[in-house]
Amino acid sequence: MPSLPDFHPDPMRLLLVEDDVMIGESVLDALRGDGYAVDWVRDGQMADTAWSTEHYDLVLLDLGLPKLDGLQVLRRARARLDRTPVLVATARDAVQDRIRGLDAGADDYVLKPYDLDELQARLRALLRRAAGRAEPVFEHGAVRLNPATHEASLDDQPVQLSQREWAVLEALITRPGVILSRTQLEEKLYSWKDEISSNAVEVYVHSLRKKLGAEFIRNIRGMGYVISRESQAEQARGESGNDGHHT
Ligand code: CA
Repeated sequence: MPSLPDFHPDPMRLLLVEDDVMIGESVLDALRGDGYAVDWVRDGQMADTAWSTEHYDLVLLDLGLPKLDGLQVLRRARARLDRTPVLVATARDAVQDRIRGLDAGADDYVLKPYDLDELQARLRALLRRAAGRAEPVFEHGAVRLNPATHEASLDDQPVQLSQREWAVLEALITRPGVILSRTQLEEKLYSWKDEISSNAVEVYVHSLRKKLGAEFIRNIRGMGYVISRESQAEQARGESGNDGHHT
């Protein structure tokens, strides 16, 4: 089994929407320097596509964008009942834009040109607030996953997961009974600029099985991976507590 590099213990994944290349590059550098995984898109159409297909912890949204206005991108997301925290970026003198942005469902705004220190502080504040929201806890058999706190447990004992193990487990446990292909799981693992090693998903599934039990994640040959609706743990408990064998 090849060894994989260590990762930041808990990187947040951000979508940066900014059409100005020079501004985008400097913001991207600052955010990556802070340890965030960042996808950067430069027009409203790309933003809408990325946002509706990927999961982000936060969206930093410029309002003046080619193809699709930032406000429209935001309204579409909120119409999907997407609650991702959003920081809109508006020009210093554009008070009406800030009002429209907040009315359209933005959580906060930041002024352009960016003061990077202020931007980073507002991101942290928004992510803290979002983490304090009530989020569902996913339970399957003896395994429990709390997306808000990023805590996992097995039989009430904490289990340490790397960020990418977490991403694989979260994708599977939130959709029990649904087979996810290797490609679908890879998409949960990486921001677009990262290199993908061809067996990465297998590596994380292997380590998750070591931590959670060999039967917890099933491999459906040629199709992908699944956590059964009725987990092995539940089955085992049910069988041991009932009338045993059916011979
Ligand atoms: Ca712009």
